[in-house]
Amino acid sequence: MSVKENLASVKSRIPTGVKLVAVSKTKPIEAIMEAYGAGQVIFGENKPQELTQKWNLLPKDIEWHMIGHLQTNKVKYIAPFVSLIHSVDSVRLLATVDKEAAKNGRVIDCLFQQHIAKEETKFGFSTEELEEFLSSGELAQYPNVRIVGVMGMATFTEDESIVRQEFRGLRESFVRIKQQFFAEADYFKEISMGMSDDYQIAIEEGSTLVRVGSAIFGERSYSEQ
Ligand SMILES: *Cc1c(COP(=O)(O)O)cnc(C)c1O
Repeated sequence: MSVKENLASVKSRIPTGVKLVAVSKTKPIEAIMEAYGAGQVIFGENKPQELTQKWNLLPKDIEWHMIGHLQTNKVKYIAPFVSLIHSVDSVRLLATVDKEAAKNGRVIDCLFQQHIAKEETKFGFSTEELEEFLSSGELAQYPNVRIVGVMGMATFTEDESIVRQEFRGLRESFVRIKQQFFAEADYFKEISMGMSDDYQIAIEEGSTLVRVGSAIFGERSYSEQ
């Protein structure tokens, strides 16, 4: 199937109110243009250089989301234009995004990435770390970032019950954080969870933003991951 057909099929399985991030990492400009031509405006990438190159070449009304682990020394490349950073996984990164956003006269929307998977390698805050940080009131020191929600990646497993449990845990954490720290903030409303293999489960568990790559653009070769 073509990118356009894949996109239509994914969109038909996503209810209104849930936004689709088309994850175009490793994929060429032509594939992105095909999706854009079919009405897709939000695209996600996980490497700052690739994101910046694509931003340069593609229509300026595309909303670019950074979805992968971000090194602090790379923030400067994407700060001028990025719409949402899903992967804020440390206070150090938050501070850097704030600084680079200020240099660009911007306020950058971010999500706190939470560690919900069993795997050691996945980045992110634990719920306890996040609640501790938010209780400290330190977030007020970073006026050029706006935290609009949370993001998480489930364990890579065939066992749907584990995936569902992890997504449910992320939603519960979101609700607690919302009540305690963002009760008045209408903008704190996003739960970014769900990829090609598990976005249906994620939506059932309350996702507001799904990040779908291979189901739209086809498999990436192993070396491209
Ligand atoms: C690659 C990637 C995705 C999309 O993965 P697919 O399985 O191709 O849908 C989603 N989120 C993050 C953080 C990714 O790195």
